[in-house]
Amino acid sequence: MPLFQKKKYIKITPNRSLISEKQVEPEVPDQLFAKCPKCKHSIYVEDLGEAKICPHCDYNFRISANERLALITDPSTFEEWFTGIKTKNPLDFPGYLEKLEKVKAHTGLDEAVLTGKARINGKEVALGIMDSHFIMASMGTVVGEKLTRLFERALDEKLPVIIFTASGGARMQEGIMSLMQMAKTSAAVKRHSNAGLLYITVLTDPTTGGVTASFAMLGDIILAEPQALIGFAGRRVIEQTVRQTLPEGFQKAEFLLEHGFIDAIVKRGDLKEKLALLLDLHDTKS
Ligand SMILES: [Zn+2]
Repeated sequence: MPLFQKKKYIKITPNRSLISEKQVEPEVPDQLFAKCPKCKHSIYVEDLGEAKICPHCDYNFRISANERLALITDPSTFEEWFTGIKTKNPLDFPGYLEKLEKVKAHTGLDEAVLTGKARINGKEVALGIMDSHFIMASMGTVVGEKLTRLFERALDEKLPVIIFTASGGARMQEGIMSLMQMAKTSAAVKRHSNAGLLYITVLTDPTTGGVTASFAMLGDIILAEPQALIGFAGRRVIEQTVRQTLPEGFQKAEFLLEHGFIDAIVKRGDLKEKLALLLDLHDTKS
């Protein structure tokens, strides 16, 4: 069939879910091909597969929280927790609430983190998945509150916690209130840890700022996806501050592994099995 005729294709919706199949007009839709940010190849979206990995260079495309959920959890086991917590715009930041409404409609998410309970190969786990399509998954008061409640409920139910991190850092529209979430989430992690419960973080591209400086790096086991950018301040800021050129690959998952900051790099396609194995090894319920 000629390439540009009317045909069925899997549409990447705004939150990039593989959820809808649509008949399209005979033209080249933007979503038919994706350009790999790393090797610059144009790739037929279907060739990226469910895990959204570049077939040429193994680049891991950024995926939505719902896509992550589908990749990692057993079908129909997810029960969402803590929806509907309202942001109060503490600084009266102009246009902030309107922006939030727009992003909510665009992504279909309640906030930058999806929280709840699910099963991974039959094992029950409290789960947090951050979505970079939601204001770069920045951490404001609601993200902090949802994560804190996740650890508290996991403590009550004696569940392990797994968090997929992604973030541009603290949410600047909430100023100091967002920075306070670093201490708040860290304290919740500590209470969960004191009860001897397992906490695993999976650092995905990009994990930066206040999220790196709090719960992302507090996991008992810290995994990362290949080539994920993980850091606190950005490369340019550091170079200008220390007046030195940073080494190649600085702040990439591979560099962090080499320097002992993380425990392992796991390919996206292997994550579910790896997590299931870790949950099995640390099972305290049976
Ligand atoms: Zn590529």
